[in-house]
Amino acid sequence: MGEVSNNLKKVRKIIKDTCESAGRNENEVTLVAVSKTKPNEMIMEAYNEGVRDFGENYVQELVEKMESLPKDIRWHMIGHLQRNKVKYIVGKVKLIHSIDSVRLAAEINKEAEKLGIIQDILLEINMGREETKFGIMEEDAMDIVKEIAEFPHVRIMGLMTSAPYVVDSDENLKIFHKIMGLAVDIKNENVDNVYMGVMSMGMSQDFVAAIKEGSTMIRVGSLIFGQRNYNK
Ligand SMILES: *Cc1c(COP(=O)(O)O)cnc(C)c1O
Repeated sequence: MGEVSNNLKKVRKIIKDTCESAGRNENEVTLVAVSKTKPNEMIMEAYNEGVRDFGENYVQELVEKMESLPKDIRWHMIGHLQRNKVKYIVGKVKLIHSIDSVRLAAEINKEAEKLGIIQDILLEINMGREETKFGIMEEDAMDIVKEIAEFPHVRIMGLMTSAPYVVDSDENLKIFHKIMGLAVDIKNENVDNVYMGVMSMGMSQDFVAAIKEGSTMIRVGSLIFGQRNYNK
C-alpha cells in the first residue's frame, strides 16, 4: 500500500472516531483532499481509494489538473482568487470557498450568467482576525451576505475559515465555535438565496476540533500527501 493510501486510512479513522465521540454521523463530514503542489500520481492514489473531492489554491495548477484527471472529480477552489482569474474556473469547480468581497462575487456572477449556470460559493471569514490572512471580518459578514444574495448566478452555501496556526487542535475550538454561531445568526436572517449548510473548516492541524464544533467539510493536505515543498 502506498503512502497516500496509508495516510488516508489514518485520517478517515480519525474522522470516524471524532464523529462517533461527538455524536455525529460521519457522512455529515466531507473530506476535501488538498492537493496543491502535489503531482497527479498522488492525486490518483487518493482517487483510487475513493476520494472525489480535491482542493487546490492556484488557478493555473487547478485548470491543468482538471484537464488531465478524471472528470468525476469535484474540484474545490480554496485559495485566494483574483477577479481576472475567475473566468477560468466558474462552472468547472464544484465550490469556490474563498469569496472575500462583493466585487469578487459580482465577477463570478457575471461569468456564471454568461454560462447560464449558478455557481456555488462560500464566504471566507477571517475569524482569527489575522492580518496575514484573507477573508471578511465577522462584523461585516451580514451586510456582505445580503449584497451577494442579490446576485442570481451565485449561491452562498455556507462559510469557510482558516483558523490560526496552532500546535494543539483544541486551541482552535473557540474560533470554530464562533463561526458556527455566525452561521446561525446569518441563517436566522432568512435571506433568500443564502444557505448555511456547508461549514468548511479544519485542516491537518485542527480538523478534529473543527469536527467537534460542527464542520461539514474539512480541508486536509499534508496529513494525506505529506509536507509541501514550495521551492522545487
Ligand atoms: C493548504 C491549505 C489547506 C491544507 O492545509 P494542510 O495543513 O496541509 O492540511 C487547507 N485550507 C487552505 C485554505 C489551504 O490553503
